[in-house]
Amino acid sequence: MKKTLDLKLAVLFSLLAISLNCPASDTSLDQNELKFSSKGKFKIVQFTDTHIESCDDMDHQTAVLMGEILDKEKPDLVIFTGDNIACTKDYKTTSDLCFQPVIDRKIKWAAILGNHDHEDGHDRKAVMQYLCDKPYSLAQMGPADINGYGNYYLQITGNDSDKVQWVLYLLDSNSYPANRANGKYDWVHIDQVQWYNNKSKQLSEEAKQAGRELRALAFFHIPLPEYAIAFENGEVLSGHKFEKECSPTLNSGLFTAMVERGDVKATFVGHDHVNDYEAEYMGIRLCFGRSTGYHAYGIEKLNKGAKVITIDQKTGKFETRIVEATTKN
Ligand SMILES: [Zn+2]
Repeated sequence: MKKTLDLKLAVLFSLLAISLNCPASDTSLDQNELKFSSKGKFKIVQFTDTHIESCDDMDHQTAVLMGEILDKEKPDLVIFTGDNIACTKDYKTTSDLCFQPVIDRKIKWAAILGNHDHEDGHDRKAVMQYLCDKPYSLAQMGPADINGYGNYYLQITGNDSDKVQWVLYLLDSNSYPANRANGKYDWVHIDQVQWYNNKSKQLSEEAKQAGRELRALAFFHIPLPEYAIAFENGEVLSGHKFEKECSPTLNSGLFTAMVERGDVKATFVGHDHVNDYEAEYMGIRLCFGRSTGYHAYGIEKLNKGAKVITIDQKTGKFETRIVEATTKN
């Protein structure tokens, strides 16, 4: 009997020790923990193409810039839209530096991969899994039976209830096609488009049942082919275009799916470091972020920086602006 009691006490104490010491207990957050502020706002900072490569002085300069932006903006969520690390020998050490400014400030964050994150021989799945497991990360691997690592969604609930007000889709736009005859860059594959389509239908139905309209933003790395069309034929709202859009040659229909579904109001990408424009096309705003990393190629006219997205719960609208380093690249 005593032995059983001792054993029970030992288990109890060890559980208590785990709950006191394990940092995961206050950093393992579920997707429903994003909420509009008491003023009805939700602020996202988009860092893109941070390109942490070797933890040298330039990479530390990028981390300092991220820290300054976070201290100034105090966002509810940070989203890294790929090429977070690039051409690195050690993906763990460079990932640690990349996400540390956000983790240090206890800010929730999400990320997807770009085309460079796994280069230099790393396993793309392992790189994604590593960032999913970090403190304050809301990133998820997503369904295992479709292409890509990191196809998932996050929900933002209202400040006065647990009802979902906005959805954020995060998609892996992959890297390079297996068959290079199919173009330089890979695309969001058909099964990923189907996943979005099905998820959108499900979430729209849930919103309808609750008497609301589903509103969403989408984040991925490589711009869709429609970006170039939007810049030429749509309404350019802001920003610059200093290079031709480096989109996939093949169009796998994600934009068409989003137009048909009607929930996505804007998409946010990176990839082209010297484009930061936003253009409205077929009712969707196609946006570039502002390149953040000093190792990423740039242009003197565009300082390194970030995009700030503020969603208004009451009006159902969102605003964007660029914040940038005060020093030249
Ligand atoms: Zn890049």
